[in-house]
Amino acid sequence: MMSVPFVSFLPLEKELDQELKGAFERVFARSWYIEGQELQAFEASFAKYCNTKYCVGTGNGLDALMLALKAMGIGAGDEVIVPSNTYIATALAVTYVGATPVFVEPDIATFNIDPAAIEAKITTRTKAIMPVHLYGQPCDMDPIMAIANKHDLKVVEDCAQAHGATYKGKVVGSFSDAAGFSFYPGKNLGALGDAGAVVTNDQDLAAKIRALGNYGSDYKYHHIYKGHNSRLDEIQAAFLSAKLPHLEKVNENRRHIASRYLSEITNELIRLPFVIADVEPVWHVFAIRCDHRDELAKYLQDNGISTNKHYPIAIHMQECYKDLNIAPGSLPIAETISATQLSIPMYYGMTEQQVSYVIEKINAFSCHG
Ligand SMILES: *Cc1c(COP(=O)(O)O)cnc(C)c1O
Repeated sequence: MMSVPFVSFLPLEKELDQELKGAFERVFARSWYIEGQELQAFEASFAKYCNTKYCVGTGNGLDALMLALKAMGIGAGDEVIVPSNTYIATALAVTYVGATPVFVEPDIATFNIDPAAIEAKITTRTKAIMPVHLYGQPCDMDPIMAIANKHDLKVVEDCAQAHGATYKGKVVGSFSDAAGFSFYPGKNLGALGDAGAVVTNDQDLAAKIRALGNYGSDYKYHHIYKGHNSRLDEIQAAFLSAKLPHLEKVNENRRHIASRYLSEITNELIRLPFVIADVEPVWHVFAIRCDHRDELAKYLQDNGISTNKHYPIAIHMQECYKDLNIAPGSLPIAETISATQLSIPMYYGMTEQQVSYVIEKINAFSCHG
């Protein structure tokens, strides 16, 4: 029986062995670990990659989103619109600045926030919209930006799963006032530990985010905000600089695997993700839906294929968000997704044989329940 892990970093790390070790050697030889030339170099190249003027490294993706909201002056009493189907970090970023996340349902076919459902949730307290390019597929940004402009709202893209994905030919992260990225190891561009960044075209906002992530300090021992400690380490910046030139190749490989899944999975029990017109997703995960999801997951595991659920409990149903008092059943699309979604293996360097095996086993699945 073939074994297919859900994800493996090994194929890329083997290819980049020399570059990654070289990056370590370079930083270690310099003996300078925080806020140095590696960070500067990576920020410059990542801003360029995102087609934005500025990039500010942060400790992780959650902090990138939180610092962006905070730098915009969003806080207690404010509301921020987030999708009801996303990783919990999107909502936590809002909570951390003291604001309230307001959930808008996704389109069940794309899994992304439904622009047509946003306006009904806008109140006098709404300050921003946070679209999440979930699973690596860009949100429909034109209607989202039009709504934001009409109601004078900020937009912060959550790009944690979508490095390099394009909407109408433009890379995500370049549409909004600011965008947060995560370089968690499993993301399309991953560090060898935690890391994140904000990209923006707003010079003042970039400076404020940088200060907020560095103890609220604009220059040494001079503190203008009660800030945080959330910086991107030199060593992680060096690893990211080694990996960034390979991101297009990594995304291309994911697109190839996705195109095989999309054309070759034919089992009628499986719903494939719908890709909107004029976008190039980067397939952070390949999400399918099945009414017999748990049975399918067990069947695949019995056949040596590992899968994952993104995410098994909708955010408004989480213990920690009981205080929002959102009754079960009130966000039915998010709840349906949490009960039926399954992510199947997707990573750079998956072999054609492994992809074929996953397709063959999924097509052979039948429901006994
Ligand atoms: C990973 C992720 C984050 C948070 O990134 P971290 O680096 O883990 O803090 C935020 N939003 C989404 C959608 C994510 O997938």
